Amino acid sequence: MTDITADRQTSRRNPAAPGGARTVASAVPAALVARLAKGVTATGEPDWVHTTAPLTGDRLASLPRSTPADVEKAYELARRAQRSWAALPVGRRAAVLLRFHDLLLKRQDEVLDLIQAETGKTRLHAFEEIMAATLGARHYGRRAPSYLRDRRRGGALPVLTHTVESRRPKGVVGLISPWNYPLELSISDALPAFAAGNAVVNKPDTQTALTALWARELLIEAGLPADLWQIVIGDGPVIGPAVVEHADYVSFTGSTRTGRQVAQQAAGRLVGASLELGGKNPMLVLADADLDKAAEGAVRACFSSAGQLCISIERLYVHRSVADEFLARFTARTSALRLGGGLAYGGDMGSLVSAQQLETVTRHVEEAVKAGAKVLAGGQARPELGPLFFEPTILDGVTPEMEICGQETFGPVVSVYRFDTEDEAVAAANSTSYGLNSSVWTTDHRRGRAIAARLRTGTVNVNEAYGAAYGSIAAPMGGMGDSGLGRRHGSEGILRFTEGQTVSTQRLLPIGPSMGLDDEKFAALFTTGLKALKALRFK
Ligand code: NAD
Repeated sequence: MTDITADRQTSRRNPAAPGGARTVASAVPAALVARLAKGVTATGEPDWVHTTAPLTGDRLASLPRSTPADVEKAYELARRAQRSWAALPVGRRAAVLLRFHDLLLKRQDEVLDLIQAETGKTRLHAFEEIMAATLGARHYGRRAPSYLRDRRRGGALPVLTHTVESRRPKGVVGLISPWNYPLELSISDALPAFAAGNAVVNKPDTQTALTALWARELLIEAGLPADLWQIVIGDGPVIGPAVVEHADYVSFTGSTRTGRQVAQQAAGRLVGASLELGGKNPMLVLADADLDKAAEGAVRACFSSAGQLCISIERLYVHRSVADEFLARFTARTSALRLGGGLAYGGDMGSLVSAQQLETVTRHVEEAVKAGAKVLAGGQARPELGPLFFEPTILDGVTPEMEICGQETFGPVVSVYRFDTEDEAVAAANSTSYGLNSSVWTTDHRRGRAIAARLRTGTVNVNEAYGAAYGSIAAPMGGMGDSGLGRRHGSEGILRFTEGQTVSTQRLLPIGPSMGLDDEKFAALFTTGLKALKALRFK
């Protein structure tokens, strides 16, 4: 198997740090794959499904494929385990998350290898998943008891009605996740679901199932009952609907197209769903921005995980007065990026994940260039580095007729536009049907926040690419418009996995005529009472 120690895009002056002698084959040995494969819920004679390593194109893993009957079995096992899990005090459940946090930090190199092998991203971009997963584990490990505790609420009648709002687990959550952030996008939704007393049946993307299986093993080591997290593997259109079919709640992350199908199926069953979908995220560089910081931030915004990041930036709006200066810096930084890096820290941008991704990226760029767009940096596939490498690319002169203008590319390509007024920039940023993430660069923080209020995106980062808002785990994250429904993180991120239950105990007097009052007198007395409650400012 080839070791990837790729180079700078345009010259040899800036080689990526070598990956040493470690190869995908040595980092992910067959014995490890065989061990992890045991975590798949698949019965009967194995029907193997195969994955390849994006960095090399070589066979990576063979895993047993689950059938719809296996999915049913997974729900059965999960349901049984969930009953005793839900009966534990929330503090005991939360403690598992805190232990997982520590284990993940300690054993991070194991999973960094797996993430790199399965996705082809650089080690630094893989490390973002460790950052996000541990932030989530700590947050819900510490805060779940307070999010979930019983709360006294005002009763129907003051003093006479004692009311408590409780949170009950949904039961078994169906969790469907994509390939681009395989650790984070399995864990970030699973952890609050577990803390709230649920079980999870998870269908990761087959390409990145090893990472999810590894995370499951680690969580079991941290104290999670083994049957509580079931993992099923198979083709999305076959196994995905089976997962939705039995779920008490669906947590889906993926494309807008699939998200719509999942939403319709969940609606037909009257179960709730949260949908974290695609984006075509804008970044605004205002005239007063620190251009060096903005250029450095734009590189992170556009090319992390080779742009295969739902919250990455694909549209860049720059104030005309600083456009030339900003673009000179951004283009220079982009052209200097080192592709590759192997299974070690060092490379700046990795490979795409699949031939399908490479095809979409190539098509978007070629069509745009053919229709008149100008390439300021990159623009080419780099097969000599690995089968799925594509250069980080900046396009100028993109027009609305081009597919790349409004459709998500989900790759390392950004289109640059110029604006003259703030109103024009806001209108352009809001001009797609998506609304996931945005980024605003200005030295005037108050102005940045005022612009944020006008942007139709679920998260806005002022003077950062995406990590500031995504990493603020105590606050909600999700999409507006075609980018989704519901939110992960914060209180919404855990309460979605619960049913609110109101328990009211009536004391002394009933809510109806009593003590000899006839209906009319009861109504008159109640009318007086209602007026008094308003006058006394009862809420
Ligand atoms: P996808 O929709 O093709 O697949 C996502 C998951 O759904 C996979 O596990 C897939 O097997 C499964 N699936 C496919 N068909 C299904 C069906 N009919 N029913 C149920 N499940 C089915 O998306 P993808 O290409 O794997 O992921 C990339 C997309 O995900 C991009 O659009 C990206 O923006 C989005 N994404 C969004 C977020 C977010 O937080 N908003 C995060 C990561 C990725």
